[in-house]
Amino acid sequence: MKTKLINWFEKRKKVHQEKMMKLGKCPDCRGYGVVIVPIHYAGSNIECYKCNGTGKFSEWEKNTQ
Ligand SMILES: [Zn+2]
Repeated sequence: MKTKLINWFEKRKKVHQEKMMKLGKCPDCRGYGVVIVPIHYAGSNIECYKCNGTGKFSEWEKNTQ
């Protein structure tokens, strides 16, 4: 059961990444360059560190390897 759920998550993640790759967008921030922080201390968005705030898939790929 647990393994099944992990596989489901991995599959969804992969599908999302492939979709974003086709669009040329960073999968983490969906091309926005910022990620929404669900914590009150920051109060807003922070720059996506995976793509250095560019929102580009190519930058995300570099930082993921
Ligand atoms: Zn990003």
